Amino acid sequence: MSKKTTLVGRPSSDPDIITVSNPALERSEVRADYHRLLLAWFDSHKRDLPWRKTKDPYAIWVSEIMLQQTQVATVIPYFERWLAAFPTAQALATADEQQVLALWQGLGYYRRAKLLHAGAKQVAENGIPSDAAGWRDVPGVGRYTAGAISSIALNLSEPLVDGNVERVYSRLTADSSPAKELTAAAWKWAEKLVPAQRPGDWNQALMELGATVCKPDRADCDRCPLVSKCVAHARGEQTRFPTPKPKTQTVKLQHEYWVVRRWENGIPLYAIEQIGSETYRSGSPEEKGRWWEGMWQFLRVGPEGAPPGLVDYKDDLWPVSLGSFTHAVTYHRITVSASLVDLPEKAPQLSETAFRWVSMDEIDKFALPAPQSKIITLAKRDSR
Ligand code: SF4
Repeated sequence: MSKKTTLVGRPSSDPDIITVSNPALERSEVRADYHRLLLAWFDSHKRDLPWRKTKDPYAIWVSEIMLQQTQVATVIPYFERWLAAFPTAQALATADEQQVLALWQGLGYYRRAKLLHAGAKQVAENGIPSDAAGWRDVPGVGRYTAGAISSIALNLSEPLVDGNVERVYSRLTADSSPAKELTAAAWKWAEKLVPAQRPGDWNQALMELGATVCKPDRADCDRCPLVSKCVAHARGEQTRFPTPKPKTQTVKLQHEYWVVRRWENGIPLYAIEQIGSETYRSGSPEEKGRWWEGMWQFLRVGPEGAPPGLVDYKDDLWPVSLGSFTHAVTYHRITVSASLVDLPEKAPQLSETAFRWVSMDEIDKFALPAPQSKIITLAKRDSR
């Protein structure tokens, strides 16, 4: 018995495999068929998202940067707050970096906020780019983001490929190439298929299909507008595509922080420091990305022990553990431990150091990475 007849409910024949090398893709009526099916589905099924109510390139740019590595539901309130605070690239360009980081706080991957800020300065000076090549010169804007802004906001026939598009492509054409080759093939496929009319809607429709129907762990083929075109579906092998990427090994890190406290007029004040390149004292290669540079933290204890300026006041009674937790950044798993360090009443104010002394009420005004906010919770819970 042939393999084909053993599966129940399978179509009698595979659709054409529309890969980039298939001449069928050169025929406009073949491409038009894809466009008609997917755009009609998009028109009636697209999610109502705030960045879909605008064609402002700046707003689309902000949304695309925020959506990198971050879920739609998380991004929505950040996008709305951001546009209220910085409605234009000019407004963002003139903002203070602390204000920018504070508004990004909780969204993670802070390098995105810094690059967006740098990009806004460039755009404020040179004007909004008018094509994809111009956008790719803007800091933080790669091929995908340039394609998204130029197709969605500028209505240019520019392709894009993200993880969703890559998966849809892989299943439609049953392409089991390994990661790098698959990405290259998906880009070629997207270049051929992006239409002259409604290119932004087409690109968004492909991504929407991947996000809501052709999902990583499940393909809801009975809801898919392209089911008649899909080779993986015809073969009953949807989840075989794309070929899984080799797992990135988790890197374990230990971060130790001291919540250094002194009392002034009965009010506890806490030492915080701005995270700069020199703050990455451990110098571990994993930290080359400098996830939180420019933000604020309690005092980080490096392998050399107590932070400089504090060691002279070391007391046998400290540090006292406040607790620990784990925090994930990319493929890093950080065990964060925090300890309370009470300085003796008469201790100098460490004014020779770069520390800033703040009350718990003031600390919220500083841009803090997520682990620091968790340390604050631990410190507030501690009643010593
Ligand atoms: S038919 Fe199924 S596997 Fe194919 S693209 Fe649609 S949802 Fe994905």
